[in-house]
Amino acid sequence: RTVYLNGQWLPEDQAKVSIFDRGYVFADAIYEVTAVIGGKLLDYPGHTARLKRSLEAIGISMPVSEDELLDLHHTIVEKNGLDQGLVYLQISRGAEDRNFLFSDNLTPTLSMFTQVVPLLANPKAETGLAVISMPDGRWANRQIKTVQLLYSSLAKMEAKNRGADDVIFVEDGLITEASSANFHIITKSGVLVTRQLSNALLHGITRSSVLSLALTAQLKVEERAFSVEEAQDAAEAFITSAGAFVMPVVSIDGTSIGDGKPGKTTLRIREIYIEDQLSRAMA
Ligand code: PMP
Repeated sequence: RTVYLNGQWLPEDQAKVSIFDRGYVFADAIYEVTAVIGGKLLDYPGHTARLKRSLEAIGISMPVSEDELLDLHHTIVEKNGLDQGLVYLQISRGAEDRNFLFSDNLTPTLSMFTQVVPLLANPKAETGLAVISMPDGRWANRQIKTVQLLYSSLAKMEAKNRGADDVIFVEDGLITEASSANFHIITKSGVLVTRQLSNALLHGITRSSVLSLALTAQLKVEERAFSVEEAQDAAEAFITSAGAFVMPVVSIDGTSIGDGKPGKTTLRIREIYIEDQLSRAMA
């Protein structure tokens, strides 16, 4: 097949995208699939309209004009002699060093390929399909460390635009976790409270190490869900992750936690964590 990548027509095995592309690292990309019958595009206006809406929704600018886009579709059909099948088009935000916060000057990655599919003479149209039912778990399996990070990335940009450092996500009135870290509080009576493990949050490795260190240090630990209000009213709060270790959180939605400074117990846990890690770090 001849495929399209960023202004070039290439044999399919020569089209290469950076491993730093945000489509690859953050699922930060949108796509469209348009059917082709007899070399003609079906429902093309609907697909381009949705393409524009999707790009607009996540703040990627359209890398080509409408005329160029239509021309790319015609050309890819023609170059591949496609009679019946699909045109796949994907636009990612582009490539840069991995960061949930992205730059505004990235060049989007535009790729297209065709697939031959017998759309009209589809045997399943004769027999019909058997289906199974499942809970709609899309975006709901956060215990799996997937690269489906577009929402987290956009949330972190929103935090930045509102003068904050990070986001804590809330579901059914209860905090799940931060955008890329687990979230914990220390109550006024000195109990470390952290949400119990489930598919609502990533099972942080740092969280787990910190909890066992906290127990060793005779801190009381409770694993349960809690609200934003309870967190705002706590003595201290912090997040944990491989990249942030134990990081104090001093306000939520503008409301200070404790005296609005990093908590003493939090900083002690940070020290204990770092000391323990350095003593066990592997060569
Ligand atoms: N939650 C989310 C959503 C994360 O992305 C991360 C960091 N990768 C964490 C929690 C913390 O996990 P860990 O301590 O294993 O880095």
